Amino acid sequence: MAMRDTDRALVQAASAVAKLRCRSAAHTLASAARTADGRVVSAVNVVHDTGGACAEVIAVGAAATQAVGQLETIVTVGDRGRTVVIPCESCRRLLADHFPALRVIVGPADDPQVVPIADLSISIPQTP
Ligand SMILES: [Zn+2]
Repeated sequence: MAMRDTDRALVQAASAVAKLRCRSAAHTLASAARTADGRVVSAVNVVHDTGGACAEVIAVGAAATQAVGQLETIVTVGDRGRTVVIPCESCRRLLADHFPALRVIVGPADDPQVVPIADLSISIPQTP
């Protein structure tokens, strides 16, 4: 799928959140998700030795909290200038179950692409 201007804006939003809010070992990734009506929900992950929570999961919860409904597109960006990160296997399954039509922006950051969540194979390696 081709990148839209709104997709590039979503990458910028996630990158801004990562830069501003991922300043400790507790928060290393930021997700930004857009709804069909253009609202954006962002979230950071929580790292903890109990397992913590991925930014994508927290974004889904934040979207529910704000009653934004159906997410259309999501992207996750790493801290300290790291590139666009592919959601982990658990998140891919969670996102596909909750939002079967979700579009996912995947790296590299200088040439990102949009793929349907259904097309993200569970064998794709995860960037730490
Ligand atoms: Zn995850």
